[in-house]
Amino acid sequence: MDINKEELEIFSRQLILDEFNFKDFKKLQNKNISIIGIGGIGCPTAQYLISSGIKNLQIFDQDIIKKNNLNRQTLFSINDIGEKKSIIAKKRLKGINPLANIKSYHKKISEDNLDLLKKSSIVIDATDNWKTMKLVNNYCQSNSIPLLSSSVVGFDIQIALFVNNKKNHLCLECIFPNNNDMELARCETVGILGTAAGLAGLLSAQKTINFLMQFNQNNNFLTLINCKSLSFNHIKIDKNPKCNLILSKK
Ligand SMILES: [Zn+2]
Repeated sequence: MDINKEELEIFSRQLILDEFNFKDFKKLQNKNISIIGIGGIGCPTAQYLISSGIKNLQIFDQDIIKKNNLNRQTLFSINDIGEKKSIIAKKRLKGINPLANIKSYHKKISEDNLDLLKKSSIVIDATDNWKTMKLVNNYCQSNSIPLLSSSVVGFDIQIALFVNNKKNHLCLECIFPNNNDMELARCETVGILGTAAGLAGLLSAQKTINFLMQFNQNNNFLTLINCKSLSFNHIKIDKNPKCNLILSKK
């Protein structure tokens, strides 16, 4: 199995690991990852996925870089203010691995473009927008696309991976069955520490790699981390028989 000479050098320290022989590494490189939202969580998630050998990545963000993004959105610098996040993120990520295939979309995921997610091996939802989260959950669930949902407010991180296989229903809506348009506590109002967003991003990237490489197949957990105490809680989650997505199919 050939790996390009340049990539061989970039990833040489990773390729020493028993878990990443050329065949396994190639397996990782062949996956298609979609990240929705290149903000405080999306930046480190994308950065570390590319640094760990993910090669096919598409990123979605319709925002422009602002100064108040810089405390946590690690792909951007003061010189990027006013630029499109999607474009700058792609440039920085290509700086890590110039051979990565990165598609950047300066747009919001909506009902009209959900099919852009169709070929994803996994979708990572790093938005803090409840409407988008529900829309993406619904789409991934009905198309059997694995979905990792990651959020952080203040010092609290929340991450869950939904495998979305047809046999065992378990989705975001099962555990957060809000019918109303819930206003999430957003970082604009509650505040956010850069390291908390960074940790959420790193853990999201690790969880994604664990899933893709089948290092850890125990996914029916909601992981809650408090960054002050550095406590990790894995809460077992289960199908909700009253989930709207189940009821709507009956
Ligand atoms: Zn459900």
